[in-house]
Amino acid sequence: MAGNDEGPAIGIDLGTTYSCVAVWKRDRVEIISNDQGNRITPSYVAFSETERLIGDAAKNVVAMNPTNTVFDAKRLIGRRFSDPLVQKDVMLWPFKVICGENDKPVILVTHRGKEKQYAAEEISSMVLTKMKEIAEAFLESPVKNAVITIPAYFNDSQRRATKDAGVISGLNVLRILVEPTAAAIAYGLDKMYSISDGKNVLIFDLGGGTFDVSLLTMVKSTFKVKSTAGNTHLGGEDFDNRMLNHFVQEFKRKHKRDISNPRALRRLKMACERAKRELSSMVHTHIGIDCLYDGIDFNSKITRAKFEELNMDLFEECIGHVEKCLKDAEMDKKSIHDVVLVGGSTRIPKVQQLLQDFFDGKELCKSVHPDEAVAYGAAIQAAILTGQGTLEIRNLVLQDVTPLSLGIEQNDGEMSVVVPRNTTIPTRKEKWGLTTRSDYQTIVRFPVYEGERPRTGDNIFLGEFALSGISPALKGVAKMKVYFDIDVNGILTVTAEDEATGNTNGITISNVRGMLSQDEIQRMLEEAKRFKLEDEEHKKRFEAKNSLEDYVYKARAVTRKLTDAKKTESEIESAMEWLDEHKDAERSVLEDKRKELKSIWEPIITKL
Ligand code: ADP
Ligand code: MG
Repeated sequence: MAGNDEGPAIGIDLGTTYSCVAVWKRDRVEIISNDQGNRITPSYVAFSETERLIGDAAKNVVAMNPTNTVFDAKRLIGRRFSDPLVQKDVMLWPFKVICGENDKPVILVTHRGKEKQYAAEEISSMVLTKMKEIAEAFLESPVKNAVITIPAYFNDSQRRATKDAGVISGLNVLRILVEPTAAAIAYGLDKMYSISDGKNVLIFDLGGGTFDVSLLTMVKSTFKVKSTAGNTHLGGEDFDNRMLNHFVQEFKRKHKRDISNPRALRRLKMACERAKRELSSMVHTHIGIDCLYDGIDFNSKITRAKFEELNMDLFEECIGHVEKCLKDAEMDKKSIHDVVLVGGSTRIPKVQQLLQDFFDGKELCKSVHPDEAVAYGAAIQAAILTGQGTLEIRNLVLQDVTPLSLGIEQNDGEMSVVVPRNTTIPTRKEKWGLTTRSDYQTIVRFPVYEGERPRTGDNIFLGEFALSGISPALKGVAKMKVYFDIDVNGILTVTAEDEATGNTNGITISNVRGMLSQDEIQRMLEEAKRFKLEDEEHKKRFEAKNSLEDYVYKARAVTRKLTDAKKTESEIESAMEWLDEHKDAERSVLEDKRKELKSIWEPIITKL
């Protein structure tokens, strides 16, 4: 456990579309605003000829620089390139993603004129770095420790990859916390006194890229996740895309042209997102984009009803997951005390209505802030883990569950479950009675899978290891067992043991297929540090240029007041020309120039 002496510990909601950071300070949670004054920061990173931008600055240039502005990294993290969902996304993203080693997706961008490759973990680490810096600026001290949240439905590799992203950003990841639990903390603290007799709470989190639904029981100060369901691929971005398609078709009908360039698509999509938000409070809205494509201005209208029709199947899918979540917890919808709305997309009236109808007209709980509840809960968890917070908070007990069943392959493709879905973590489960399948076999392989299907081929392959040195014997004689250990972060370690010899072997984090190795993480960490220096240097150069320009303009303003200003004026003109010609000069050159001008002009200026 990290102690108080290690400085403040922050909570980061690392969202698909927006991230939020919070900290426990002066006996309360503070949601920290970024340098633009916003409480949420776009999870965007942009690369350009001269610099790297993260957050609002990156999202602002997305239409100008679509192929080098990366977002949605959370949709890639811990996934395989061949994953059909990744394949579908790759078609929609304006930036390029290719297949790397071990089927790992690699993001391609041009930065400072060079082609660069990044793993999703690295892009996420850049967003985390930004959130860390936002907190450091607010706290006026370095921040080392953080709790980072993930969707409850994230599988083993997505959890590991998120943790790796934290390490690359230079953070010590105190805990990976699932978003609904974090939101439940925000909800629970508010209701602390009324839940003493036990409550069942359903957290409905519909964000930009993911949808999570979780059922928690809260008894006194123990919060336990009973079941989780959802789709790591359902959210506001999908609603935007539906509207985007609608308008692309309309453009085709009206103007007989297919909008095919990324910049135009991006501009249209941004207009769609804006329109979507407006339709949460208005029943119709219009979009207008000058010179959208081929010099054609695009103007159109959309009603709330049309928007709902375009997305109805997606909205209904959300309700389907709610049903599944209840079923998994073996609970009736009547036994739910509160339905809590989290995530920006829960502002959509139709979503609220469908949910309310499903719960037979029950009032939905809107007491937590949909954009901030997750970071709020993460900050509380961070406080608990560092021994801060009020007594009431320190007494909170949070229990998470595994979102997917975990097991090994047996008898040609049969999934043998060792840890069933929704088991409380941390946990250790073992399976006995495993044996060899041919005579004198001395090595046995253990392929590890996660998923709910009876055939391993339909589930997700996590990795494989071998147990060797088994004493040669007839098949079926050797006795082996496997242990599945899941830690507090939901990360799995599997070990197998030969009962006769006591030999063991297992899967360690580094050799799970598609994951970064320790060396790669180290390399990325170094690169992140280099990036930080580069960013700082870029900022300083920019400041040097500004300060020089500023000086020249000021000097001009002052000398203009002189009667015999002719001579200085020509000097100033030439200084301005120099500035024009040296736009890209290095910081030291700019600083030297300022010094030089100052030594010549200062005596004249001070005379005035
Ligand atoms: P995530 O956690 O997945 O990054 P958020 O919970 O921050 O996402 O939600 C972001 C999503 O919410 C975006 O798709 C955004 O367009 C959507 N959103 C925000 N406000 C509204 C609104 N008023 N109506 C509809 N959607 C909204
Ligand atoms: Mg979210």
